[in-house]
Amino acid sequence: MTRRSLLQTLGAAAAGGAVPQVSGQRRRRPYDIVIKNGEVRDPSRGLKARADVAVHDGKIAEVASEIPAERGREVIDAKGLYVTPGLVDLHTHIVYGVRSGIEADPIAARSGTSTWIDAGTFAYDQIEGFRRFIVDRNQCRVFGFVYLYPASRNPDIDPLKYVSGLMDATGRAASANRDIVLGVKFQVGSNMNGRYSHDFLKIARRLCDEYDLRLLVHISTAPPETEEVMKLLKPGDVVTHCFNEHTLGIVDRDTGKLKPSVKEARLRGVLFDVGHGSGSFNFESARRALDQGFLPDSISSDIYSANMNGPVFDLPTTMSKLLYLGMTFDDVLKCSTVNPARVVTPLPKLGTLQVGAPGDVALLSVEDGAFELIDAQRNKVTAKQRIVSHLTICKGKRLVAPV
Ligand SMILES: [Zn+2]
Repeated sequence: MTRRSLLQTLGAAAAGGAVPQVSGQRRRRPYDIVIKNGEVRDPSRGLKARADVAVHDGKIAEVASEIPAERGREVIDAKGLYVTPGLVDLHTHIVYGVRSGIEADPIAARSGTSTWIDAGTFAYDQIEGFRRFIVDRNQCRVFGFVYLYPASRNPDIDPLKYVSGLMDATGRAASANRDIVLGVKFQVGSNMNGRYSHDFLKIARRLCDEYDLRLLVHISTAPPETEEVMKLLKPGDVVTHCFNEHTLGIVDRDTGKLKPSVKEARLRGVLFDVGHGSGSFNFESARRALDQGFLPDSISSDIYSANMNGPVFDLPTTMSKLLYLGMTFDDVLKCSTVNPARVVTPLPKLGTLQVGAPGDVALLSVEDGAFELIDAQRNKVTAKQRIVSHLTICKGKRLVAPV
């Protein structure tokens, strides 16, 4: 491709966003990092081109057909690699030491995952600790959903009164920490909450309405039924574990068809997230939904200590499973960058490579070969491709796995 046609490609692809420029002489100060010779993929604006990317002062500083190597204090050769926005994992458990929380940074460094969203490992009275020991101490970006769980097992306490009693404290704490708390996580399903699950969900609904918070719901085992859950969800709310094989799922187990209430929920703006985890991603369930044109809005790992050594491993492995099932690399990337970034309301432009966006970049490749992939029910498949991370840049710096 000639330089001129590449520029046209860049300009056309960037319609609606910042138009990439050829690096000119206007700016003499060196950039912190220049990434050269990579294939840039930025699904936020449909940008697909060979281009160079500069990162400076923790932000994306320039995307252009050529940025001279001498402009970078550090120069990274990305020949043969995709240069993408840093990956955003919408469902993780990274409150180390609390339940099955893991340390984020070591996996962030090797997985291209620069943003980690904890999906309800902490309660309202643990937000301060979450900020101080998890958000502030990690090199990667960390946000979270606070949980509203009926944690009391005291038979003398009315569970509904107990959970209602947590409502205001949870709402107030989440509101006071909107820079890191993205909403409320609630687990729906009889395996978690017994016969009160639907009532608890209504309390979570009321909480989110009163305090203007996003609701993230885990679906697992009925009751309640999918229809009852969908009815309580509003635009911007997120359903996680959408490709589970349990009774509280998005596909009718008898007919194999998507449930009408799920289609309606998507139409009104409810988001559907993968949330792989130890029990919630099944190849057949995913295939049935994908065959009906139902792609997830976001791909997330639901990584925690019990699955980090398999079957989850990390976000690129989960992405590889969706690639195996027929999603395109670009769609998979969209579901792991700009789409999940939309729930990170405190940080606009996250999940993109637009100039001025947070300086988060992943260097990825799609390897060919024969790779075993395992779902949550331990079904094995052999994939011909897998997504591999080569480098994570977060807040303008390379992430290096702590020794
Ligand atoms: Zn989870």
